[in-house]
Amino acid sequence: MGGGISGLTAAWYLRSEAEVTVVESGPLPGGILRSGTVAGVPVDDGAEAMLALRPEAVDLAEAVGLGDDLVAPARAPVTMWTRGTLRAMPAGHVMGIPTDLTALRDTGLLSAEGLARLAHEEELPSAPLDGDTSVGAYLAGRLGQEVVDRLVEPLLGGIYAGRADRISLRAALPGVANIAARGGSLLTALRSGAQSRTGAPPAVMQGLRGGLARLPRAIADTCGARVLTRTRVRELHRTPDGWRVVLSGPAPCSLEADSVILAAPAYAAAPLLRPHAPVAARELGAVEHASMALVTLAFERSRIPAGVPRGNGFLVPPVEGKAVKAATFLTNKWHWLAEALPGTFVLRASVGRLGEESLLGREDGELAAVCLAELSDILGPLGRPVDFHVSRWARGLPQYSVGHLDRVRTIRGAVAGLPGLEVCGAAYEGVGVAACVAGARDAALRTLGHPRRSSR
Ligand SMILES: Cc1cc2nc3c(=O)[nH]c(=O)nc-3n(C[C@H](O)[C@H](O)[C@H](O)COP(=O)(O)OP(=O)(O)OC[C@H]3O[C@@H](n4cnc5c(N)ncnc54)[C@H](O)[C@@H]3O)c2cc1C
Repeated sequence: MGGGISGLTAAWYLRSEAEVTVVESGPLPGGILRSGTVAGVPVDDGAEAMLALRPEAVDLAEAVGLGDDLVAPARAPVTMWTRGTLRAMPAGHVMGIPTDLTALRDTGLLSAEGLARLAHEEELPSAPLDGDTSVGAYLAGRLGQEVVDRLVEPLLGGIYAGRADRISLRAALPGVANIAARGGSLLTALRSGAQSRTGAPPAVMQGLRGGLARLPRAIADTCGARVLTRTRVRELHRTPDGWRVVLSGPAPCSLEADSVILAAPAYAAAPLLRPHAPVAARELGAVEHASMALVTLAFERSRIPAGVPRGNGFLVPPVEGKAVKAATFLTNKWHWLAEALPGTFVLRASVGRLGEESLLGREDGELAAVCLAELSDILGPLGRPVDFHVSRWARGLPQYSVGHLDRVRTIRGAVAGLPGLEVCGAAYEGVGVAACVAGARDAALRTLGHPRRSSR
């Protein structure tokens, strides 16, 4: 249940072993992998790239026939708009944590005080970290608040739309958490890790020519499952042989199933689990979610008074007080899009962090105007857009707050007591597309390990 990338992936891994029905409450399968149209061309409305450093999502794209359309984004340094101008992050940072302090000094990203505080890190005493803490608390203690506010927070915000002082160090930065658990200097440990890596860094992310929204469509076309859209799972009941799944939608009915995989967001899975695993339901219900919106703006290239901006875009630290938290220059980043729209410059602004819901209450035109004004302040005048498109993601990103790994362990322990029921999705072991694919594959494999009746 849940026809996002997680539910579809699970269906794909079950394709030759079981008769599968994917139940999706929305009008189309894909969940957050969805496209909209700007200047007559489809562009991703949600996720646009998948991590390529881990293989699961890229392997799946190849398996469903999209291997020839995998594309890496143009290479460009991470850039911040901070302290009055755009500044590129020096190479070698780990999620915004700098390792080359000389290069960092030259960028002007931090004030003299911030740099001085950071330079003391190696002299600080450090007891090994016991348990979990927030990314913000640990890094502020070691590197100073300015590193958190101006370097780490904006990168973390790009993944979780959350806040560094709430997000779990162990869940979000497990490598840093391991260093913290050993104790000692974080910078020394990160630098020795960087030295052991040689050669050009591999492409970190991959997208698809035509947009990442092609991935769920291709999975749906090749997995052999029946996909019911505009159909909501309303209740789950245990039966002597498995589960009865009660559906509402155009044709309300119920399905009998040997096994059910719940691949819906935490807040949708919680009420379904409540009668069967109240502890798991409570923990899922306690997962906070951030809402956000993406505002895609298209401009005629020749009419941008300040000229077409360079690079792939920039991030804005929350301490700068802007509504826009990031801007991606889509036609710079993706060559296929520039080829499809040769005379057009397309950028996508991202707004909304945890706790900023009031901003998202504005109408589309107003939200686009706020973004355009802020972007023109930063980039110089952009002129009038020839088209714009707003996509809204209410409760789109689950927050991995401090203690998240224990929460997931509790949920999984409770669900393990329910034969033929599995959970997967962005609320558990990673919010990224690749992590969701991996989690869904594992859920499908566990389902296959569950004894089934022969046939019905
Ligand atoms: C704006 C945005 C941009 C992102 N960009 C990236 C990116 O570039 N790269 C990256 O790796 N990650 C990105 N992410 C994160 C990633 O896209 C998501 O975490 C991931 O796609 C979640 O997939 P999912 O299948 O677990 O959940 P979803 O995509 O949320 O799918 C769950 C589905 O369940 C359905 N559903 C809910 N309740 C019911 C019910 N009762 N019955 C039936 N169906 C139900 C929903 O309609 C939905 O379609 C982004 C997230 C957001 C919000």
